[in-house]
Amino acid sequence: AAPLPATELIGLDKSQREAVEWNAGPLLLDAGPGTGKTRTLVSRITHLLAQNVRPTEFLALTFSNRAAEEMRERISAADPEAAIQMWVGTFHAFGLELIKKWPSALGFSASVRVLDQTGSIAVLEENLEKLDLVHFQNLYEPAYELAPVLRAISRCKDELVSPDDYAHAAGEAKRAASGDEANEAADKMLEFAHIYRVYDQALREANAVDFGDLIQLSITLINVNPDVREYVSGFKHVLVDEYQDVNFASAQLLQAFAGANPNLWVVADPRQSIYRFRGAEPDNVAQFVNDFQGARRALSTNYRSTRPIVSAFERFANNEMNSAGTWKVKRTEPGSIGMLVAPSAREEAEGIRDRIEALRAEGIALADQVILARSHLTLARITAPLEAMNVPLLYLGDLFERPEIRDLLSLLALDAESGAIGLARLAGLSEYGVLRVDALALVKWSRANEIGVLDALTRTADVPDLSDRGRVGLARLGVQLSGMLHASPWTMLTTWLFERSNYLRPLLVRQDPAAQQQLVAIYQFLKVTAEFGAIGERSRRRFLARIRRIEALNEDTAYRAISSEATDMDAVRVMTIHGSKGLEFRGVHLPGIATMYMPSSRKPVRIPPPPSLARLAMGADDHDNEERSLFFVAMSRARDHLALSRADRYTSRAASASKFLGVLGPLTTTHRSPTPQPSGQTGLTRALHPLVAYAATDLDTYIDCPARYGYQAADGLQGGPEGSAYVSFHGCVYRTVGWMEAERAAGNSVS
Ligand code: ATP
Ligand code: MG
Repeated sequence: AAPLPATELIGLDKSQREAVEWNAGPLLLDAGPGTGKTRTLVSRITHLLAQNVRPTEFLALTFSNRAAEEMRERISAADPEAAIQMWVGTFHAFGLELIKKWPSALGFSASVRVLDQTGSIAVLEENLEKLDLVHFQNLYEPAYELAPVLRAISRCKDELVSPDDYAHAAGEAKRAASGDEANEAADKMLEFAHIYRVYDQALREANAVDFGDLIQLSITLINVNPDVREYVSGFKHVLVDEYQDVNFASAQLLQAFAGANPNLWVVADPRQSIYRFRGAEPDNVAQFVNDFQGARRALSTNYRSTRPIVSAFERFANNEMNSAGTWKVKRTEPGSIGMLVAPSAREEAEGIRDRIEALRAEGIALADQVILARSHLTLARITAPLEAMNVPLLYLGDLFERPEIRDLLSLLALDAESGAIGLARLAGLSEYGVLRVDALALVKWSRANEIGVLDALTRTADVPDLSDRGRVGLARLGVQLSGMLHASPWTMLTTWLFERSNYLRPLLVRQDPAAQQQLVAIYQFLKVTAEFGAIGERSRRRFLARIRRIEALNEDTAYRAISSEATDMDAVRVMTIHGSKGLEFRGVHLPGIATMYMPSSRKPVRIPPPPSLARLAMGADDHDNEERSLFFVAMSRARDHLALSRADRYTSRAASASKFLGVLGPLTTTHRSPTPQPSGQTGLTRALHPLVAYAATDLDTYIDCPARYGYQAADGLQGGPEGSAYVSFHGCVYRTVGWMEAERAAGNSVS
């Protein structure tokens, strides 16, 4: 028998112990944040191990990667040897394992693979080009139709609605339709059904599955294949953390093994249900008792947070959320919750920096502090000024906007239209030391001779007007890139990075956090490239187009995860609230607690489903409830100190206090006074608007300006002398030269 692990069994309270020792069929432990649900789950595993249950008889599941990682770490801390043999992971990872083990039972070959969002977009693009779409003509405008289509397909899969089911329901809607409007709506449903079918067929033909398929197909596997059923019935104990996140498909999966496994044991907090957009229903928690003939127990002591923090989220739950709760508080340290109001986003960031420093001075390490926000877009807005103030952060931000990734994109773009800009950037690296004039001279010559930049680089001897230094540097680059004219993005990148250039060397030598982050970013980018190669694509042009699309969709979240090698860095953690589920930090910084942002006034565009599939739609209250849950989750991550903040003004729009604040009870509010704005800085940074950049004479900066930044991202815009303009981003004011003329020349109206 495994030894009783000291940390997990000692000091359980009575209710926790009862849950640990439970052996009367399925159990739901329904309890608030920080009450020790995850800890109790881990204790149960170690308790059962001590009773001679074998590690391989456990299946410990949850929904997010980070929560799974947390669970694995805690089990590992309790019993490292058992942890290695135990199945601990996400529902999706488990589904993938089944599919990979039995691909042929589903008609796949052994090399079946999962596409991430990039892959899904590729499949849609390649197959929809062939279709004659009427209602989804703008599918190529990523921000417009592509995102809602992907969302709708994923919702269908979460609800186990097949393309046939959808087509059937849409057909019904069409038959029932009367009047132009209803007919038009029904036609759109039919067309969506068609897109869904074509997409799904294309996936099958490519021997691929998408994320949504993983659960659905594993249910099919369990139901149709006796071998799979036997394998699954080997898991005598199924434990689920964060059960409130189950949606229809994952609940069905649990049902599929429930027959074989009487020991279903789950923990949940319905107040923390933040996956409603993926079909999670807090009602599913209430349904547990019916679905599985299970018992339900609660825990009532919060062990995580200091009193002011528990009081705040308790009040919030009581006033704003249906399921109220009161918790005993175990922590005796004073702790704090405070609100900071700053004049602008930049000053809010300064306030956060000061707070981070103050907590550090109190002995709270940077790594034990976190900045949380709803979206990566918001996080980017907050982290940019903090980075500029040299606050160490563990965050990749927008992968494709990072300078090192822009370098690599320039490399891949050398023979594309924007090759000139890429070459100027790349050849300017210290390894080549080429001045821009020389890079541009080469590009000009290549155009005059109608050859590609890559070709031209191998013929620097023929190019007139090059300085000696430029010729040497360009030739060196040319040698490094020889033979790569038709190379795939993956080959070009890896050959250049690992075999031919010195690009990585300084990064590997430096040991500082910034260099580490750059390496992590490059690693993530290589993963994107590999994924692209995996769908059999070799074209660099198509790869770059794909990147632009991911960028425009703001869907690169999968590539932002920081690999575990980087996690011992002494830097403030930065993550979305979704990503923070189940975690705890001594200091939590929660910016943007203002109107428009919390709760968010933005609702994503959705395709209305046929009436008989109404469950695919989000209910009217779902958005608001999800916002409440997000705020509740965020607050309850804090162990000692919770620092809320907001600005009076974001992106030139006035903001005021979030309506959630009034519910928290008395709150110490500090007002930060305005600090003088630096002004009149010239030069552009990577955060500039493309229109500004477009007229910029500085070509290097152009490639640093992703089209994602629209005018709304600027804090302010004001005319300056001689056709220049002052644009402020992230609180910094930049003066641009000549852009208004350029805009007018391009026929755009500028006021
Ligand atoms: P969440 O809903 O946020 O996932 P949770 O209910 O899973 O929270 P845990 O993360 O398991 O809560 O526990 C919160 C903190 O309280 C952890 O640091 C844990 O070690 C501690 N804790 C839980 N139970 C006890 C206990 N009986 N004695 C001492 N500390 C405890
Ligand atoms: Mg937990």
